[in-house]
Amino acid sequence: MKSWERRVSHLLRPLGLDGIRSKMLVFGLLATLIPSFTTAWISYLQNKRSLTEKITGELQSESGQAAREMDLWIKERVYELRVFASSYEVSENVDRTGRAGGGGARAHARLTDYLRSVRERFTDYQELRVVDPRGEVVASTAPRPAPVRLPANWAAAIRAENAAVGEAYWDSTLAKGIVVFMVPIYQTGGRLLGALTAKLDLAAVQRLLRRFAGWESGEVYLVTVDGRPLVGSRAAASDLRRATMEAAEVKRLLGHEGATVEYRGLTGGEVVGVLKRVPRLDWAVLAEIPAAEAYRQVTRLRNVTVLIVTALLVGVGLLAYFLGLLITRPLDRLTRGAARVAEGDLEVDLPVMSGGELGYVTEVFNDMVKRLRESRRELERLSITDHLTGLYNRRYLMETLANEVRRSHRLEHPCALLMADVDHFKQYNDAYGHLAGDEALARVATILKEATRDVDCAARYGGEEFVVLMPETEAAGAAATAQRIRARLAGDALVGGKLTLSIGLAQFPGDADAAEALLAVADAALYQAKREGRDRVQRASR
Ligand code: GH3
Ligand code: MG
Ligand code: MG
Repeated sequence: MKSWERRVSHLLRPLGLDGIRSKMLVFGLLATLIPSFTTAWISYLQNKRSLTEKITGELQSESGQAAREMDLWIKERVYELRVFASSYEVSENVDRTGRAGGGGARAHARLTDYLRSVRERFTDYQELRVVDPRGEVVASTAPRPAPVRLPANWAAAIRAENAAVGEAYWDSTLAKGIVVFMVPIYQTGGRLLGALTAKLDLAAVQRLLRRFAGWESGEVYLVTVDGRPLVGSRAAASDLRRATMEAAEVKRLLGHEGATVEYRGLTGGEVVGVLKRVPRLDWAVLAEIPAAEAYRQVTRLRNVTVLIVTALLVGVGLLAYFLGLLITRPLDRLTRGAARVAEGDLEVDLPVMSGGELGYVTEVFNDMVKRLRESRRELERLSITDHLTGLYNRRYLMETLANEVRRSHRLEHPCALLMADVDHFKQYNDAYGHLAGDEALARVATILKEATRDVDCAARYGGEEFVVLMPETEAAGAAATAQRIRARLAGDALVGGKLTLSIGLAQFPGDADAAEALLAVADAALYQAKREGRDRVQRASR
């Protein structure tokens, strides 16, 4: 039992946790911190998970829907173009433009008119042109057709798949993001005459993506699978021209298609996004929102949690501090009280402020000090009292006499001293026995006490010698007291008629000017009283 106590306090001492108050404070703080922190952490994790699920769900549906819509949009454009390309107006006139003479020029004009009429109806078509199988321009809606980046292997692609979609690129002449679509033009017999080529404005795609960007600051991008953004729901196409994503991040997104991934977005900030490939093309839809916005609720939850835990800690800390005070204040008082008692001060009486163990200990302490005080008073009383007569003893008399002479000297007041000796006491002892002698002495002492004032000091000076010190008293007053003593003794029932007193009287400062001298002259007066026949009062002569 003792060894573990010692070991624990060994551990606590270097940490400054010796006191009750600090122990309580640490206990309070731990008791608050551990459960509240654990609860907060668990709820934080749960909230984060459910929020991530919600974000994932929304981003997945955004990207999935947008990818399907993209696919549909491409299919619709290809379908439209095929319809235009299969028009008789196109195949007839393409075939004829090759011929020399006026027929060729007329055919070219009619083909151009047709293309222009289509272009006017569909504003997303920036330019429509017809190229021959070698890629040379046959007709165009543009007055001076600029070079166009045709899809790679378009000739093979349009034969095999009936359409080719090029890479998106920035057209500096139009100052627009452009994607090129191509569909084949066949003659009625099945001979390939060329291809209808359409430059499509990516703004149309942006409008489409914008419908799916659900979040306040979220963005839906159409990106190529090598990480080049083509168009964003919000970002201007011109801003995206030079932006590319890091290859590693694109790879990670592609590897986790349809799942949320945290990565560095195109604008440089941390984002959460879901990537979904557009079917059949090297494109993908990337729906993303800034991580800060995604986890704003979680961040707020965390901040609120930290605030609550901090408030709890402060509250519990204060509570523990005041509880500690409640415990340590009485302990401090007890400690200080014990220290005072140890120094000899027994006038300690501690206030009992509370019940409980400490209140009880305080009461016991007070009781103990009270008993000590009483027994010391008794000891003090005994140390200045003569045990036989109950008068003051000689030691006390000498102290009092010295003090009184000093005081009278300072104040220039008189004081008087009587020195009394029982006459022929040896004979009394012989006649009645020693015990009766003791009783007689006690009786004489009582008479001395009763015949003097409370301020007078009546003491037993020796065997059957007594001294009475009378402050503020002239010789005459002292002589009267001495006579009163003699008279009372004479009339006493026990010793009256059997014992008499011889009394020497001396006065300060008249007869002597020091304590010892005063005693000496009183003694001399007493001796003279004896010589002159006893049973009398004799005034000292200088
Ligand atoms: P006187 O003083 O008149 O000259 O005669 P005395 O017989 O009293 O002589 P002295 O003063 O010399 O004697 C003192 C006697 O007092 C001696 C002793 O037996 C007695 N005595 C002293 N102290 C005590 C005491 O405490 N008890 C008793 N019973 N007797 C005491
Ligand atoms: Mg004597
Ligand atoms: Mg005597």
